Parts: sequence; C-alpha cells; structure tokens
Amino acid sequence: MGGVSDFRTSVAFRSAERWLNEKRFPDDIDAILSRSNGSPNQSNLRDFLPGRVKRWALDEGPIPVFLANDARAGAAVALINKVLERSVFYAVPGLGRAVAPRAGLVVSLGTAAGSSKRPHEICIGNVSGLTDETGWDEDTVDEQGHFQRPLCVRIDSSAGHQATFDQVVHEFGHALGLGDHFPGFAEPDGAPAVDYAFWAALVRLYQLSPGDEYAA
Ligand SMILES: [Zn+2]
Repeated sequence: MGGVSDFRTSVAFRSAERWLNEKRFPDDIDAILSRSNGSPNQSNLRDFLPGRVKRWALDEGPIPVFLANDARAGAAVALINKVLERSVFYAVPGLGRAVAPRAGLVVSLGTAAGSSKRPHEICIGNVSGLTDETGWDEDTVDEQGHFQRPLCVRIDSSAGHQATFDQVVHEFGHALGLGDHFPGFAEPDGAPAVDYAFWAALVRLYQLSPGDEYAA
C-alpha cells in the first residue's frame, strides 16, 4: 500500500520523529525564519512580501495538493501533516497537472529546473509557477496567505535523475514558505536536505500569522 513508514530510514522521517519526541525549538529559531522566510536572498521568495511572514492560510480548509500518484509526495504531505499536528494538506491522488486546479499545490514529475546561477548542478527539485519552470509568481498567494493560483512542486529531472524522499520533503518546505537554506535545511552543501531544525522552523512558521512583520 505504501505510506510514510516506507521511508522510515530516511533522515526526514527520523528527524521528524525526534521533533515529535522533543519539540525543542533552537534558540535562534526566529532569526532563522526572519532570514529564510522574511528576507531571503537566494530563493524565489526574495521579492515576495519582503520582511513579512509568508505562510499560507488554513482558515478556509487545508491546501489541496495534487500528488501525481507519487509515493514520495504522498508520504511527504502525510509526514508534514503529522508534524504540524493539523491537516495542512488535502491530498488529491493522481492526475497532477491534467487537472489544472484553480489554486493549491501541483506535483510535477520530471520537470525540475535549476537556477541559471548554478547551471552545472543537476536539479532534482524546485518550486515554481505552472508555466514558468523556475520563477515564483508574486501573486500566487495574497497577503493573508490565500492561494490565488497553483504552485508547482517539481521533482526529478527530465534526464531521469530521481529525488530522494528527503529532497521531496525539502521541496514541500519551500512550497510552504521556507526560502533560503539554513543548517538543517540543506546547509552547508552536502548536509541532509532536511533535518531537525527544518521541522522546528516549519512548526514555528505555522504558529506565526500570515503578513506579520518580522522584527528588524
Ligand atoms: Zn532548497
């Protein structure tokens, strides 16, 4: 049948378990979020609501996510729901891009596209609009965090390079508002794609209110 437990040996799964056991925020968690989410330099979120909390509203229900029948994506959204202890996602099995939803997340397989700044790297994941493979449409969500159009979670390269489960969870972290990398979120190069501080940052981000200003 498949499920989260298929990935129980991954760093993502084990660090999520550790978070759920300990629930201890790193001391600098708000500074981490202010840089990664509030004022990122490297990511697609750079020009999007600068200095403000970019997280998506859940008051009108969970975010629809079209999973393209991918076991990694299905397990990733289940693990994120478990860690955030709420239904962040409403999973729609199968279909993917063919649905062309009005809003929400769409998993697209084999279309990951890297940034022009690092053309030498094989890209196995990124988040972008449905039509622009690398850019993030600035009107994807409004200031209150409601989706206005779909956001595409692209995993695996067109040349057949496959993303690991950790890397798929990582891309969903970007799709939920984490921008620049930090220790625990693929920094430094070669570190796990997600680790304990990733879960702490995601939980903290979804305790904040969309549109709030970060302290300078
Ligand atoms: Zn990343």
